[in-house]
Amino acid sequence: MRPLIIGNWKMHLTVSDALAYARTLLPRLAAAGGREIALAPPFTALSPIAPLLKGSPILLAAQNLFWEDEGPYTGEISGPMLQEVGVTYVLVAHSERRRHLEETDRAAARKVVAAMRCGLKPVLCVGEDEADRAAGLAQTVVRAQLARGLEGVAPGEAARLQVAYEPVWAIGTGKAATPAQAAEMHALIRKELAGLFREGGSAVRILYGGSVTPANVDELMRTPGVDGALVGGASLKADEFARIAAYR
Ligand code: PEP
Repeated sequence: MRPLIIGNWKMHLTVSDALAYARTLLPRLAAAGGREIALAPPFTALSPIAPLLKGSPILLAAQNLFWEDEGPYTGEISGPMLQEVGVTYVLVAHSERRRHLEETDRAAARKVVAAMRCGLKPVLCVGEDEADRAAGLAQTVVRAQLARGLEGVAPGEAARLQVAYEPVWAIGTGKAATPAQAAEMHALIRKELAGLFREGGSAVRILYGGSVTPANVDELMRTPGVDGALVGGASLKADEFARIAAYR
């Protein structure tokens, strides 16, 4: 399984920042062979950055999509719109969207299905918060997010799916999960995927996200069951992201 590293810029970087970033990053990616690298800029930068990335090893990802292809949905962006500008991956139900925009598992499922329908590759984000973990509910929460968020995905489609395990307490806090915590949850997610998709479940890449940095990426990527990384803050600096992409 080819590892996948995605940089999620969240609501950072203007179009001119994004172009400057791409020009800095591209020459630094020589050591990132053998893995897939993607960048998820804000919607405004997708189209302008696409020509710079064409022919490079970097794929485009979007941070969100809506579940209908077109219609009276003010402020939303659809799968075909993302496809047209060259997007390959799309994040679904990032915990910041669950928290600030009250995105539900039901919405996540509709978005995953829409992404598949449009030929995009969804990255369903799951993860427990601090209170869930303290209460011993981390596995229960993640299991429920997977079952509900993947409703409607057929076993034959699973090869296009990625899951990102992002414990909420690790996002943007500098407090990454330990390799043991990540290994335990990735094993649980793999088991759940097998339950949902039988053999199809083994093709799903499971990414870890939450305070991945150049200092901890090597260890996290060596952790059993970790097939990639979803990187927020540390992806905002091209040299840091290049080092993460070149993990060893
Ligand atoms: C994220 O945005 O998905 C993320 C994991 O953020 P950070 O790397 O900053 O914790």
